Amino acid sequence: MVEIDPKRSLQMSRIRSADTKPEILVRRAIHARGFRFRLQRRDLPGRPDIVLPRHRLAIFVHGCFWHQHQGCKLASTPKTRQDYWEPKLAGNVERDARAVGALEAMGWRVQVIWECDTRKPDRLAARLDAIFSKE
Ligand SMILES: [Zn+2]
Repeated sequence: MVEIDPKRSLQMSRIRSADTKPEILVRRAIHARGFRFRLQRRDLPGRPDIVLPRHRLAIFVHGCFWHQHQGCKLASTPKTRQDYWEPKLAGNVERDARAVGALEAMGWRVQVIWECDTRKPDRLAARLDAIFSKE
């Protein structure tokens, strides 16, 4: 069901970030719902983690810390080396916002699934219900 070409899949196996646990959980759950998707379309802004071309839907699975999930306890900035972390994390947030804006301008619907959403199966299910009820 999942459309993966062998060359890309080999490339991806070398990129650790492509196989984080939250992403695997989300992929599995979407797959179980019978949706077809592609992984990490490099030609799209921000390289969304999961893309459903037929639905023009791009999904990012974001780590709460790296992408600074607002109000989330997993996102707290380290107390040490704040001069290092703050600009770095702010840069990530800014890049994310730019990617969402660019995708929306291209006519994509963009959804973010946060790492903390994936930690409890019923919470992930509710999140996916909300996303896919429009499909
Ligand atoms: Zn979170």
